[in-house]
Amino acid sequence: MRFVSTRGGDAVSLDTALLEGIAPDGGLYVPEGVPSIPVGEFSSADSLIDVAEIFLSPFFAGSTLAADLHNILAETFCFPLPVSPLSIGDGNVGLLELFHGPTAAFKDVGAGFLAACISRLDDASTGPLTILVATSGDTGGAVAAAFNERTGIRVAVLYPDGRVSARQAQQLTCWGNNVLSLAVQGTFDDCQALVKSAMADPEMSAEHRFSSANSINIGRLLPQAIYYAYASLTHFSSSGRPLNIVVPTGNLGNAVACILARQVGLPIGDIVVATNANRLIVDYLKGQEWHARDSIQTHASAMDVGNPSNMERLRSLFGEGDALNDVVNAVSIDDVAIEEEIRQTHAETGIAICPHTATAVRAWRLLDERVRRDRDWLLVATAHPAKFETIVEPLIGEPVPLPQELQRIMKLPSRFTRLNPDIAALSEALRSGYNGDLSKAG
Ligand SMILES: *Cc1c(COP(=O)(O)O)cnc(C)c1O
Repeated sequence: MRFVSTRGGDAVSLDTALLEGIAPDGGLYVPEGVPSIPVGEFSSADSLIDVAEIFLSPFFAGSTLAADLHNILAETFCFPLPVSPLSIGDGNVGLLELFHGPTAAFKDVGAGFLAACISRLDDASTGPLTILVATSGDTGGAVAAAFNERTGIRVAVLYPDGRVSARQAQQLTCWGNNVLSLAVQGTFDDCQALVKSAMADPEMSAEHRFSSANSINIGRLLPQAIYYAYASLTHFSSSGRPLNIVVPTGNLGNAVACILARQVGLPIGDIVVATNANRLIVDYLKGQEWHARDSIQTHASAMDVGNPSNMERLRSLFGEGDALNDVVNAVSIDDVAIEEEIRQTHAETGIAICPHTATAVRAWRLLDERVRRDRDWLLVATAHPAKFETIVEPLIGEPVPLPQELQRIMKLPSRFTRLNPDIAALSEALRSGYNGDLSKAG
């Protein structure tokens, strides 16, 4: 399988798409043609990894990684992704728990898979590869965890000092020697601008061999289709019915993965994306023009995206404007509704949900009663509520226990270097930071 940029140009191999992340023309890589796989082909698949192998084989055809796909998948899917029943309102839905990985959010799946691929692709003989990540909180932790202790690869995580939660800060600064945590004295935009200038700087690029692991990399998207494939096949084999799915959405990555799984032929019915108050997707599907907006801060902070980058993928795969209404529905859930939903779900079930997950649950509640009752629904839980305890705990009136993985991380020593937001300081930090002296923590 070859991959093309959403903006045209020549097709490249999967290996190139994985290493480049973003296409040279600024576009996003999409498969040249989406394969179809009849449901029957999965009949012998018993585990998530079996399903993943069948699903991903056509995408990996011709890649140097094809022979190693099983091992890549075994490394990626090393934590459970269970569906638990949720009895809310007048219905019975499934909750797809994507938060049992190292940093307790679904990005662990994509980051883990990408790390497993890149560590196999890179020829470390020319010196280590440096993965540069700007993060507003969550992505950086998942990427650092995924690349932690992989030989021949270093990670530099840039985050805005003082603008991430205490638990997020710990998840950004607790890793091993190949992870450099840079507490930028500025905003998330400053972090992003620094990463962009560093990558555009030929000297720095040659010295550090930069690569990115951001969410537009096709290697983050593909593995996310797997949990939808597995959940829908499991449901279909026990009920003979398709699964309808609600996905909390920021950059549309997780949602495009779900749409891709349906396109390949998995038994998935309606797909609803739930945004927070950043409602560009919703307004676009209602007929407004697509114009990037400033992002609005909400309780579901990992979805505070003013210009969702994966819309470009969606349009390139499925068409513009109106045509997309057949592909996906979108609902915007504001902070008031998020708060109400966290309270209500807890009151009805005793289960605490995170603010992102709450957008999906509320979007489901807002569906037509018949649509809710007559179809089978899966709601996606993207993060563990303990990651957002300052929002969730006051609403439900009780503490949310930390899951084991987060307990472990919280006890590790924290190390970071403060960084002024200028390129010379970054260059200096990248040069000196890895020589065993990472611990300028203050
Ligand atoms: C990143 C993130 C989202 C949004 O996912 P996209 O793929 O960007 O749509 C939702 N919830 C959580 C917890 C996240 O970390």
